Amino acid sequence: MKRRSFFEKAGMLAGSVLVSSPILAGNKASGSVLKVAHITDVHIRPEENVPVRAIEWLEKVKQHQPDFFLNGGDTINDAAYQGVSRARTLEQWQAWDQFREKISDYDVFSCIGNHDPWWDVPSKEDEMYGKPYVVKRLGIPSPYYSFDKGNWHFIILDGNHEGISLGVEQMKWLENDLDSLAHGTPTLVMSHFPITSITNDLVGGQHKDHKELKDLFFKHKDKVKVCLSGHQHLLDRAWYNGVHYFCNGSLSGFWWGDGDEQSAGKQYYLETPPGYAILELFENGDVTNTYYPLP
Ligand SMILES: [Zn+2]
Repeated sequence: MKRRSFFEKAGMLAGSVLVSSPILAGNKASGSVLKVAHITDVHIRPEENVPVRAIEWLEKVKQHQPDFFLNGGDTINDAAYQGVSRARTLEQWQAWDQFREKISDYDVFSCIGNHDPWWDVPSKEDEMYGKPYVVKRLGIPSPYYSFDKGNWHFIILDGNHEGISLGVEQMKWLENDLDSLAHGTPTLVMSHFPITSITNDLVGGQHKDHKELKDLFFKHKDKVKVCLSGHQHLLDRAWYNGVHYFCNGSLSGFWWGDGDEQSAGKQYYLETPPGYAILELFENGDVTNTYYPLP
């Protein structure tokens, strides 16, 4: 791909100059095979200059020269509440298109968030009803899917089933997907809702089927190394049975608002500033996850 080949060239030319300023360089830490940008909960909408503000921050993410983007869902502000009109849904997706256009030369692998599907539609036959339309607007193959990059495997989940879960069919698919991998294939799982989290006690939001997922990940402990999530707008990390669980705040912070009496700073949700994460994925399955607060 265009971006990748430029990156590879830049990497070959890197030398010691770039090592000293990693934010400007496409170079990676020694042994790292992939540099990935994780943005989540963009909650984009047309008013309050949100698209311009979001794109300004996106440019900061791009300075890291990631190999590709993971977008954790709640891409648009909200189409899921009662009474959201067709026009409102469309204008939010148009704002996303503006944002996405700025990274058109990157692959962006997205999750479906709870705020993304439009449910209050006059007819279920409408082409904009529910998840299929979100799949189309995000340019993803299906609500859940997997792919390979470098020597890593990536699994993108859809937790928008009863009580925040995968549902029977997707759980079966996930079991098969992990079974089909060669022993020791390092694997990253991205979900919108956290699978295991600290902040669930504060604000809820965790996968209801987290015990089943924990068992499955333990069965495949040679593979599953890291789980990414959003939804909380809070920065939290857990480590259990050899799996890192990174809940990487949100790009929108306090949904692009200034905050409330509980916000520790402007646009913070509780103590978490808006931001994004850069991950380095190593050949041996190690991972680093760094959260960059904004602005
Ligand atoms: Zn959410």
